[in-house]
Amino acid sequence: MNIARIFAHRVELPLHEGSYKWSGGKSVSVFDSTVVGVETDTGHVGYGEVCPLGPFYLPAYAEGVRAGLRELAPHLLGWDPRELAKLNHRMDAALKGHPYVKSGIDMACWDLMGQATGQPVCTLLGGRFGESVRLYRAISQEAPEAMARKVMGYVAEGYTRFQLKVGGDPDVDIERIRAVRAMLRPEHRLVADANTGWTLHEAKRVVRAVRDVDVYIEQPCLSYEECLAVRRATDHPFVLDENVDSLDMLLRARGDLAMDVVNLKISKLGGLTKARQARDLCVSMGIAMTLEDSWGGDIVTAAIAHLAHSTPEEFRFTSTDFNSYVTVSIASGAPQRENGFMAASAGPGLGIRPRMEVLGPRVVDVS
Ligand code: MG
Repeated sequence: MNIARIFAHRVELPLHEGSYKWSGGKSVSVFDSTVVGVETDTGHVGYGEVCPLGPFYLPAYAEGVRAGLRELAPHLLGWDPRELAKLNHRMDAALKGHPYVKSGIDMACWDLMGQATGQPVCTLLGGRFGESVRLYRAISQEAPEAMARKVMGYVAEGYTRFQLKVGGDPDVDIERIRAVRAMLRPEHRLVADANTGWTLHEAKRVVRAVRDVDVYIEQPCLSYEECLAVRRATDHPFVLDENVDSLDMLLRARGDLAMDVVNLKISKLGGLTKARQARDLCVSMGIAMTLEDSWGGDIVTAAIAHLAHSTPEEFRFTSTDFNSYVTVSIASGAPQRENGFMAASAGPGLGIRPRMEVLGPRVVDVS
């Protein structure tokens, strides 16, 4: 089985809530996602998806996915998609960096591996732990009362974990955290994710002002050093995200005890192969994880479900069902949230089938 063609479709994913806002006034109303297909000489096709959180979150942008695929794909024709370590080694030799470009190809090759073996990807990633995967709901940045109202709605839908988008005016962020926590029950978990938006003095003011509140603090500042300083100034459980984009950074952060939970995003790390490597290392080191991606539709959600479901439950802090945030379904068979949980498909591969009528024409086609 060898790769004969790599292609991609561009698809727009509008949001049910109209827009998604986070630190520094950043917002997206329609996500630009890329569905990647890897076709073999045996006639099998595997699918992956890459959807950056706009061009201003991580060093990634939607058109960059497509440009990167055109650059990288010719180097992979004739290679066996089931030899995932070899394929990743090849991708890293042919294109330095740009992990998000590689993520969709790697995901599609896991889908192919599942089809070739008749196994779901979660089985291939280590096995299915437990019945389902617990989800969090991200609460877009708005006025404190509006965020509190939104959280109540999502509690009613069955969510038990919430991630508040803060990283704005620190005084308003303090109100946001207090207003939302007041709506929650003790067993609910609340994360205040600043997405690098506070300067060091702002972060220190916020954590001191909410010292009596049961809340996790995620990625308060831009640099790792600033985050470490905040971490050492607070006893809130602490999550690192944007700074941990490699095994090097994961090991460094572990060495400094810089976090209690780490946020692993599939495309930030370069695909399921590398996310699994980081995940397994975290399990070995006893670090809990948020397992997710930057954004996406049904295919990314399926990949998240397989990665999370193959992780021991005590190390899964939370995951995301991005397909429930968007108005367009790009594939059948993807996990559907039930009471704040989802489950990986039991079918072969990722267990999804793209809706070709939604995807439209190919924008990348290399054979
Ligand atoms: Mg985050």
